[in-house]
Amino acid sequence: MDCLFCSILKGEIPSTKVYEDEAVYAFRDINPQAPTHVLVIPKTHIPSADAVSAENSAAVAAVFEAIPKIAKLEGLEQGYRVITNIGEHGCQSVKHLHFHVLGGKQLSETMD
Ligand code: AMP
Repeated sequence: MDCLFCSILKGEIPSTKVYEDEAVYAFRDINPQAPTHVLVIPKTHIPSADAVSAENSAAVAAVFEAIPKIAKLEGLEQGYRVITNIGEHGCQSVKHLHFHVLGGKQLSETMD
């Protein structure tokens, strides 16, 4: 399977690690949209949030347990935003479930 984020997990493509545990990897987005822009991914390949099920949702729980730790590491005490894009209309470009953690400035009120 040809998956960019699986290649990052294998170390075949370099990334700037922010956080890692047994189930989760987080690294800096290559094209940051805010002072902090971290991508948080499960180590298991799940194509998108639309593919989450009872069988794989523990990986998603692990991501959301990691996010507050990452926010603390990044000094996001004033708040932040977590986004996941799904499919064509959602502008998902990498087909490995990932959550954008954005912060470090006042974010806009719009989400479209
Ligand atoms: P999405 O458009 O929601 O699928 O998000 C994919 C994100 O991956 C984009 O924000 C890209 O900037 C980011 N991205 C693509 N390639 C890399 C890479 N090699 N390292 C870090 N981030 C990347």
